[in-house]
Amino acid sequence: TDPSVIRNFCIIAHIDHGKSTLADRMLQATGVVQPREMKAQYLDRMDIERERGITIKSQAVRMPWERDGVNYALNMIDTPGHVDFTYEVSRSLAACEGAILLVDAAQGIEAQTLANLYLAMENELEIIPVLNKIDLPAADPERYAAEIANLIGCEPDDVLRVSGKTGQGVEALLDRVVERLPAPVGDADAPARAMIFDSVYDTYRGVVTYVRVVDGKLSPREKIKMMSTGATHELLEIGVSSPEPVPTNGLAVGEVGYLITGVKDVRQSKVGDTVTNNARPASENIGGYEDPKPMVFSGLYPIDGSDYPVLRDALDKLKLNDAALVYEPETSVALGFGFRVGFLGLLHLEIVRERLEREFDLDLISTAPNVVYDVMREDREVVTVTNPSEFPEGKILEVKEPMASATVIVPSEYIGSVMELCQAKRGHLKGMDYLSEERVEIRYWIPLAEIVFDFFDQLKSRTKGYASLDWKADGDQVADLVKVDILLQGEQVDAFSAITHKDNAYSYGTMMTGKLKELIPRQQYEVPIQAAIGSRIIARENIRAIRKDVLSKCYGGDISRKRKLLEKQKEGKKRMKMVGRVEVPQEAFIAALSSD
Ligand code: GDP
Ligand code: MG
Repeated sequence: TDPSVIRNFCIIAHIDHGKSTLADRMLQATGVVQPREMKAQYLDRMDIERERGITIKSQAVRMPWERDGVNYALNMIDTPGHVDFTYEVSRSLAACEGAILLVDAAQGIEAQTLANLYLAMENELEIIPVLNKIDLPAADPERYAAEIANLIGCEPDDVLRVSGKTGQGVEALLDRVVERLPAPVGDADAPARAMIFDSVYDTYRGVVTYVRVVDGKLSPREKIKMMSTGATHELLEIGVSSPEPVPTNGLAVGEVGYLITGVKDVRQSKVGDTVTNNARPASENIGGYEDPKPMVFSGLYPIDGSDYPVLRDALDKLKLNDAALVYEPETSVALGFGFRVGFLGLLHLEIVRERLEREFDLDLISTAPNVVYDVMREDREVVTVTNPSEFPEGKILEVKEPMASATVIVPSEYIGSVMELCQAKRGHLKGMDYLSEERVEIRYWIPLAEIVFDFFDQLKSRTKGYASLDWKADGDQVADLVKVDILLQGEQVDAFSAITHKDNAYSYGTMMTGKLKELIPRQQYEVPIQAAIGSRIIARENIRAIRKDVLSKCYGGDISRKRKLLEKQKEGKKRMKMVGRVEVPQEAFIAALSSD
């Protein structure tokens, strides 16, 4: 295809502002999906995506569109909407010349819209502002058009109005894409260079890699090279999604499509990497490649210890489709054999856990998630801590924690409560801008550990649900952090150790010791439960001893009842874990670890 008739674009929107629905209408309007084949959110393929209504993996689809007698090829690249996947969003944007900025006409701009808009602007994309859901009675297009115009510096009249539900305005929007977005430019005679913006494992076809060609041409059966690793593969198939895969005889400058090489693991076809021709390689990659970096770690353990091999195989399978997933075996006194698993964020954690439970029929317990710390010991050696148990003993010179840049958008009456929350979470105010008279954007630099856990829930409850949040990892800071251990009769219970700010150590300690006191049954002797920082005890509870032997209750009773009781006890014991001399039912650990 001649690059002059190609338009590559993506849709950036806050979650629920209607991106998937609009994409569906575009598929219909361009005729690539027939009405009888249409199902809602056609492009959201994974079951979990459909059920949760979120887009995890981006997809590209090619649509024909005629305007003034010219046949154009529109490539729509769907981007994941959630903050955990910012890097994938940035690569999808880098594959485009323009972006549709889609805003719910009853809600206005939200934090994810802004974050992705900034990413699009960094990539120098042409922005087409659009208000969606104008069919809603609550829609206030005048007001939000002014907000958008103010933000991106256009006229309110330039903001298109559409409804993904009724299809109103969708054709005008496709025309606008053709008119406003620049055609891709590249050197057709140069050695081939294509950027990978997505890579998906398919059981039947192996890894399907989505690329945008920048220079030259990729053809079937030639040998390609991955520039980050130098690995070479044969191109078994190359084609475009429309939206089902259609093999073609190659992809040229500006084109977007897929490649199949027979590799079985997405790690061999990494998002952000540059594909070139092996016989005539490009000298420089396209740039912007980063290895995915796990931000949050948690221990995953099967509730039934005999499921450990199933869990291991399940993780090996998921990894084929998830380049960001990392894990290694770990053992815990309390929980037995499991894995330490790294995730991009909490949503990623939830998705992985849900897939393990659903697709592999596993019952799992996960330890409280933590971020990654750099701890400098007295000998100036820096230890990377992904698990509280790795926190070095003895004197520590310095602990560094990862930070995030966070953006919150709220109605201005909530500024005070948002600032109060961010301050309590050790945030540093970076700036504040009014989007309009009544809505404001607040920016904070804030510890990742404070933001990834319950921050969003607290923010929502303090603002009656009006606040929206987006964040991205941004550097680190030195902070006063300590490891709090929980001891049962002097024995450390590994699964409950936590790294917290010094000011929060006491409340963590009293919370945990209090919980365990409720959950652990009485033993033959008194059991102290303590929270400690090093050798210093900061909180303590006692489980009192049982006075009477259980059997004494049946004194003189019939023997079969006694036997039954003993058997019941034995059964219970199977699910007991020993911590030193203390017997703890596994349920107690599970209950103590589940957040309430
Ligand atoms: P996404 O999260 O941005 O992909 O949003 P979805 O496309 O999943 O839409 C979120 C919700 O808004 C769904 O319940 C849609 O049915 C609804 N929705 C999307 N577009 C429109 C629209 O134009 N009008 C109305 N009334 N509802 C819409
Ligand atoms: Mg969606």
